[in-house]
Amino acid sequence: MTSSAVSIPMPSVPRRRRTPDEVLAAAPVSGPKRVLLAAPRGYCAGVDRAVIAVEKALEHYGPPVYVRKQIVHNVHVVTSLEEKGAIFVEETDEVPESALVIFSAHGVSPAVVQSAEDRGLRTIDATCPLVTKVHREAVRFAKEDYDILLIGHDGHEEVEGTAGEAPDHIQIINGPHEVDKVTVRNPEKTIWLSQTTLSVDETMETVRMLKERFPTLQDPPSDDICYATTNRQVAIKKIAPQADLVIVVGSANSSNSVRLVEVALEYGAKASYRVDFANEVDEGWFEGVATVGVTSGASVPEVLVQDVLRLLADYGYGAVEEVVTAEEDLLFSLPKELRATLKEAGDVTRALGGRGNRPTS
Ligand code: SF4
Repeated sequence: MTSSAVSIPMPSVPRRRRTPDEVLAAAPVSGPKRVLLAAPRGYCAGVDRAVIAVEKALEHYGPPVYVRKQIVHNVHVVTSLEEKGAIFVEETDEVPESALVIFSAHGVSPAVVQSAEDRGLRTIDATCPLVTKVHREAVRFAKEDYDILLIGHDGHEEVEGTAGEAPDHIQIINGPHEVDKVTVRNPEKTIWLSQTTLSVDETMETVRMLKERFPTLQDPPSDDICYATTNRQVAIKKIAPQADLVIVVGSANSSNSVRLVEVALEYGAKASYRVDFANEVDEGWFEGVATVGVTSGASVPEVLVQDVLRLLADYGYGAVEEVVTAEEDLLFSLPKELRATLKEAGDVTRALGGRGNRPTS
């Protein structure tokens, strides 16, 4: 059996837009029009590595290459890889025996690894190393018989993977509203961990409330919310108070993209919307708007942001100021299974992921 492919929403059909003059006539703008462009934005090191892993696997093994779940949560990236020969499946039992399957950046539970092994599949694990770090913490604290409170979104692939490392020790907590229902065996031996792509502020609020109930609750050895999630939130926090409108480029199933809309609104943006593509931007959003903030989630190629900037320029928002709150230069090595193949083939190109924001055609 081949695949019941992951369902990918397609870009919306182009429609007649109101002209810039029509928008201006509907609601005049006071003050100069401008764009504040967040930096960092877009591709993180883990996404870059996962996408390159699929591209390299296609290049070296030839299509089809199977990928369990979306390699990263972005419509454009997934459709581009499908066009090159990747086949996205929900579960490993949809992959023909002895075929090659890549595990996505979000990670998998040991049960998934075992099921692939049982079927004799060849595997490449493109789990982001920062997700793997959380898995290791879960394994370690479960071995020491801790109760682990995993703050994250129930049903998200990353949370399923991490919880699957130690299902008997882990409780998933979706947010502050679930703190009251938590019970633990021994508060002295309880630790919290988290999904990597949450709102930093909301997670800290959940932790604060948990500590009110369990003052001896232990913190993770290091931050689980990753550098990319944190940096993108810091950048939009700086822009949001000045913005009449914030546009976040990212897919609906991208946790960190959705969080950026929430953070923009919390920090004072008058309105904020998420779009996958520039043609989803509604020109009605520009009525009365002088300052537009723009950012993108960690799984978004820069080319999609540039499309939005071009559209904004058409509507008079040609002045773009980049607001830089951090520099990122983290790179991860490609998955070890792939590195071995590349070495054998003498392929030394891109043994490391490129810097974030690598354009993807
Ligand atoms: S968002 Fe963070 S955890 Fe997720 S792939 Fe990127 S670097 Fe890794």
